[in-house]
Order: sequence, then structure tokens, then C-alpha cells
Amino acid sequence: MDINAVWSEAKNLLSKSLSEVVFDTMIKPVVPISYENGVFTIQTRSEFYKTSLSRHHREMTRYLRSIINDDVELQIISPESQTPNKKAGSYEKTGLRARYNFDTFVSGKCNELAYAGSRAVADSPGVTEEYNPLFLYGNVGLGKTHLIHAIGNQIHDNHPELKVLYVPCATFTDEYITSIREKTTPAFRKKYRNTDVLLIDDVQFLAGKKETQEEMFHTYNYMTSMGRQIVFTSDVPPNELKDLENRLTSRFSSGLIADVSIPDYETRSAILEQKLHADQLEIPVQVKEFILKNIVSNIRDMEGALNKILAYSRLTNATVNLDLTKIALKDQIIGEEKPVITLEFIRQTVADYFNVSLEDLGKKSRSRTFVLPRQIAMYLCRKILDTPLPTIGKFFGYRDHSTVIHSCNKIANELETDEKMRMVVEELEIRIKGD
Ligand code: ADP
Ligand code: MG
Repeated sequence: MDINAVWSEAKNLLSKSLSEVVFDTMIKPVVPISYENGVFTIQTRSEFYKTSLSRHHREMTRYLRSIINDDVELQIISPESQTPNKKAGSYEKTGLRARYNFDTFVSGKCNELAYAGSRAVADSPGVTEEYNPLFLYGNVGLGKTHLIHAIGNQIHDNHPELKVLYVPCATFTDEYITSIREKTTPAFRKKYRNTDVLLIDDVQFLAGKKETQEEMFHTYNYMTSMGRQIVFTSDVPPNELKDLENRLTSRFSSGLIADVSIPDYETRSAILEQKLHADQLEIPVQVKEFILKNIVSNIRDMEGALNKILAYSRLTNATVNLDLTKIALKDQIIGEEKPVITLEFIRQTVADYFNVSLEDLGKKSRSRTFVLPRQIAMYLCRKILDTPLPTIGKFFGYRDHSTVIHSCNKIANELETDEKMRMVVEELEIRIKGD
């Protein structure tokens, strides 16, 4: 990621929301330093500016999150305070992100086993063979990275004597390849094997990387033979991992495999509330409902949507309400998927309703079972679409439209007297019009 580009976009946003003086004196001289482990670090001119800039910490964080579309944390440093705050310091070698912990994780049906397994591993790492390795899988944005960090954080907090290391699998791979090139493989091995808890995120990255797979295999064997805990995450279960050596697949499968899936409305709502609470934010109920109804398959996108709304509200100096939300999220909203009503669609809906085939609705079959549905279908085409009678006639396979006239009149008459018919036709109209 190009941190300069990200920062210049953030500056652009800040230039609109801050006064010119503030922007020129405080923001302009800032330099982006790094983006690592989810922490975006910027440096101010001096300790004094760091203190003043901290007042805009929330706002800057929000902009960064809307640009990077990840749960970024912002860290401000000054030349005097080269080492960042204490907390980050104690986390230096673990790769862990403090905010991904069990307190901020919402459990539900969608992640029951993954959550329980993670807690068990965090309570007693390496102790239970059935949980070693713990293998978490699921689609993007559903909390795998959050959970694996939560495991690490809890162990880090409760057992400071244990060495915890979190690493994205891509980093593991890069470091291994570099170590071969630079002939430093022993140091590489020492780093990874000298841990009590090894957390490896996104092992699908091992696909096709034969040598790294081999190294991972040995790392796994070493760790488990020493009774140390290892946790993996992936976007698919072990048996669906592509281009992976069998023996590694079988290692991945030898402990507890648990999935995270798409949360239902209630769980998503709890997650949203949790985020709002954590950031001390309040938004109107209608806005919450709108987010929950429209962003359904991915928690990261839900957070992104929230950040977008808040950023938009700040930039335009408007309060957060439903209208603003709709504008801010216009690219993310699920279209109201109403089908276009056509003759074809009406005929199909009627056929489905009566459980007959489209062919049966054609003119050939004379059986009463099919005649009635066909007449209703023609009636509805006329009523809903106001299609000219000859067109309807042709569509249903008649040479002239006298049958259509006859059918429409017949159904119209029956509707006057036959309660059951009225219910059937009403139900069909609802199905067709979708409301
Ligand atoms: P994954 O690694 O599965 O792609 P992440 O763990 O990065 O997903 O989750 C994406 C975002 O959604 C993170 O900010 C995370 O905190 C949040 N998130 C996902 N699931 C939950 C949950 N059950 N409770 C709270 N936050 C969640
Ligand atoms: Mg992840």
C-alpha cells in the first residue's frame, strides 16, 4: 500500500473539514511513517504539535478507515517520542492488534464453534490436542482475523511469560523466501519455533508454494511435538485448499476445524451496537436499520458503511439521518430487486403457483386442470400490463384473440361471485407485483 497516497487523500478530506489555519499549521507538516499490523503511524513536527493534533485523532482515524477500508488505528508520534505509546511498545514483537479482543467480539450462531474453540485455546494454549491446531475458516470480513488476534491478546495478557506471535501467512512466506536467498534460514526457524503460540492468518496463501508448504509442515510438527499451540485461518476448509500438499492438508485437519459464517440480522445488529458503543457514537434507529438491511454479508463492509456515513456527515456538516445515509451509501445499497413484469414473468408465476408446466399453459391441453390457470394467466396479463388482446393471444399460441376475450370475461365474472377465485387471483397479483 502506498502510504503517501493514503495520507494525501486523508489530507484532502481534512482540508475540507478543518479550518485553513489549523490545516496549514498542523496537518501540512505531518509525514506518514508506516502502515503495519493495522496501525497507521504519522509523525508531527514536535511534541507540542502532537498534543494539539491528538484532538483530531478520532476524525483522522475515521478518514483513514474510509480510505483504507480496514479497521485502522492511528498512531501519532513526534521526533522526541520516537517510541510510540506504551501499549504498542509491549506488543512490539507479537504482531497483535489490541483492539481485536474477546470483549469486542460478538458471538452468535454464525460463529459459535469458532468462538468456543478460540476461547478454549486462549484459556489453555497447547494443552488440548484436539484443539491443536485450531483451524478457523470462512469468507472475508466475518471475523477470522479478529478471533485469531483475540486468542493472542488474551494469552498475552494472562500469561506474559508466553511468547505469542501473530503473522499473516503472506509474511511468513516472504520471510521464508528471503531467508533462503540470504542464507538465514536458521534465524527464520528460530524466530518461528521459539514461540509458545503461533498464529498464522490466511493460509490459503500457501497455494502452489511448495517450499513454504514444506517449511510450514515442519514448523507445525515441531510446535505440536513441543506441546505448543498453533492456530490457522483460511478462507476455505482444509480439504478445499488449492494446490496444497496432502500431508499439510491432513495436518490442518487434525485438530479443531470451525467456520465463521454470515451473521443473522440480530447478530449484525449486536455487532453494530458494539462498534457504536466502542466509539461512543450514536446514530438514529432508521440509519441503523438501513445499514443492517442493506449491508448483509460482510462485517467489514458494515463498518466501512458506518465510517462512510460519518465521514460524509462531517464533510457536509450535516447531521446523520436517513437521507444522508442513502446518499453516502449509494454505491453499496442492494437494489430493490423487483423483477421486471413481462408476459413471460406472469405466465411463469401462474404456472409455478398451480404447479403446472409452461407447456400445460399452452393452448393444446384441454384438461380443466390447465384451462383455468391459462385463463387466469391471460386475465392477469390484460389487467396488470394492459397488453393488447391480440398480443396476449399470440403469446399463448392462439391465432385470433377471441379466446382471450372469452377468458378475461369469464374470470372477471367469477371474481364477482366466487370468493375462492378472488383469493387466488389476489395472491397471484401480489406475487407478480412483489408487494
Ligand atoms: P476476516 O479476517 O474474516 O476477513 P476480520 O476479522 O478482519 O474478518 O473482520 C472484519 C471486521 O469486522 C473487523 O473490524 C472485525 O472487528 C469485525 N467483526 C467481524 N466479526 C465480528 C464479530 N462477530 N464481532 C465484532 N466484530 C466483528
Ligand atoms: Mg482476515
